[in-house]
Amino acid sequence: MKNGYWGKVLRANLTKRKMVVEDIKMEDLKMFIGGAGLGSDILRRRAPSGTHAYDSKNVIIFATGPFQGLPIPGGAKFSMVSISPITGTFADTAAGADWGPALKNAGYDALVIEGNSNEPVNLYINDDRFEIRDASRHWGMDTYETVDAIRNEAKNNRLSIACIGPAGENRIAIACVAIDKHSFAGRCGLGAVMGSKGLKAVVVSGSRSVEVNDPIRARELIKKYQQEIIRTVRENGFRDHGTPSICETAESLGDMPIKYWDGDVWPEGAKKLGAPNYTSALNAKPLSCKYCPIGCHRKIKITEPVEYAQEGVGPQYETLGMMGTNLLIDDPKAVAWANDMTNRLGMDTISAGAMVGFAMECYERGWITTKETDGLELRWGEPKVLFALLEKIGTRSGFGAFFVNGTMRAAEKIGHKAVEIVAHCKGLDLPAHDPRSCISLAPTYATSTRGACHYRGAPGDVEMGGFFVPEIGITKGIVKFFERENQAMIAAKCQDYFALLNSLVLCAFMPDGGELSFSSIQELFNAVTGWDYSTDRLIEAGERIFNLQRLINIRDGYNGNTDVLPNKMFKIAKKGFREGKAIPFEGLMEDYYRIKGWDSKGKPLQATLQRLGLMWQ
Ligand code: SF4
Repeated sequence: MKNGYWGKVLRANLTKRKMVVEDIKMEDLKMFIGGAGLGSDILRRRAPSGTHAYDSKNVIIFATGPFQGLPIPGGAKFSMVSISPITGTFADTAAGADWGPALKNAGYDALVIEGNSNEPVNLYINDDRFEIRDASRHWGMDTYETVDAIRNEAKNNRLSIACIGPAGENRIAIACVAIDKHSFAGRCGLGAVMGSKGLKAVVVSGSRSVEVNDPIRARELIKKYQQEIIRTVRENGFRDHGTPSICETAESLGDMPIKYWDGDVWPEGAKKLGAPNYTSALNAKPLSCKYCPIGCHRKIKITEPVEYAQEGVGPQYETLGMMGTNLLIDDPKAVAWANDMTNRLGMDTISAGAMVGFAMECYERGWITTKETDGLELRWGEPKVLFALLEKIGTRSGFGAFFVNGTMRAAEKIGHKAVEIVAHCKGLDLPAHDPRSCISLAPTYATSTRGACHYRGAPGDVEMGGFFVPEIGITKGIVKFFERENQAMIAAKCQDYFALLNSLVLCAFMPDGGELSFSSIQELFNAVTGWDYSTDRLIEAGERIFNLQRLINIRDGYNGNTDVLPNKMFKIAKKGFREGKAIPFEGLMEDYYRIKGWDSKGKPLQATLQRLGLMWQ
């Protein structure tokens, strides 16, 4: 096929120990594009209503889109889709490194994992050769040891490996999937779903070239966009300092979490954690996924103090927020150490930081004491407490076992008013961006189909003045901080746009940071597929995918009553940028539902579903 796809899915049934290749209908790819969109469609069909994350009926879909396997900047990614053990509904998460291109080069658009194995297994895929093998000797290893062991055994350092660590094996609901000791499919607990299936690792290599509709045009465009993105990120400093560059700005705008969302300002902490201090203290250099001109990831080297000595992947902004300012820890080396521990255990650093902040607040309020915490005094600002709790949570030991099913379930066990202080949407902990600062994040978090997420739509970056998509009406100056006008509109449109990006599986930092325009992405899409999609048709695909995910949420028991924000988001700041400001939540949600074409209870109208071709439900 000369359109960027193979039209093939590899299905692996771990109960039956059988693998088969099946065709994907081209009509489905035209509707759902690939990645998160294709995964959502497969999830709807294969995981029926009522499926628990750990049921053998649950499936995990690893999916690529039309851009994988080509040297497209930001295209070396893949999506994972499944039922989350945290939210009990649709979840998607994405990662980079080299795994997505490797699966595509092996000749598949997607891999679907079905059934559960009673014994630990690995999956090996190399072009036409694929098999399920025993993984008992790898079970118990951390994510870095697993990659090293599998590569050493195969005497092949180029194998790309998606694996879980002890947290996934122990079915800790915030377990992530680690790729090549470099990138992490972090949110929603899909590492725990892999663990429940007995699947330790998926090992991929491929040698096939993907064919496209217009190779000359595609090559020209790729070269042009590479150069444009390099120029942009050199000018704006994103390449030199990565996401730690936003710490000081985020804090000054009241966007960064402080003391588990109760603090208003902490400029000194943000300054120490963020760039340029981060870059010099951690000897940080850019680290790229394949073909990426930005290299937002950080390769760090710490030589002293000796207890933090390491060389590897450094923390991103989200981790600096959730394990730094959120816990009143201001030492970037300590956060780097915690980041490395969490990556090796195989957990989401955002939710792990949230859990520790929640536990510290419960301790401060007297709802838990050293009796419950195995003698630990959970004091704010103490890196050693953070390290100890991460170890306990990741290995399900002692007090850590409270957190096995997520922060909300831990709060229910703790009692008192602990449930009321959890900062979450659909059970998923808030990431390190505060909707009290950028109020367009309020409907975005409340309705995000995977639970609270700032990157299933990034309207906050529009409010802050750094991200625009004029092709779909998101222009400079369209919203102002704390003013309601157009906030719901940018939230709704950004969600559709990011649903599209996650289905192309194009890294969102290409447009949001690298300033790659919607028109450029559209040009590239048409050169690759030959489908000649207009702007309207392409963004409509994003809208269709978002609505499909919403329908899965509704099927699984979510509705307008669950489109809410946590209590902490209604606490008014006493100082700083958002002093005295409140989110006009109800009015915002009314605007949002109307723009989405949903009824007053948050259900898509029949006319909306008909327009989007989702009338099967
Ligand atoms: S910007 Fe970062 S996450 Fe995106 S492709 Fe580049 S290195 Fe990977």
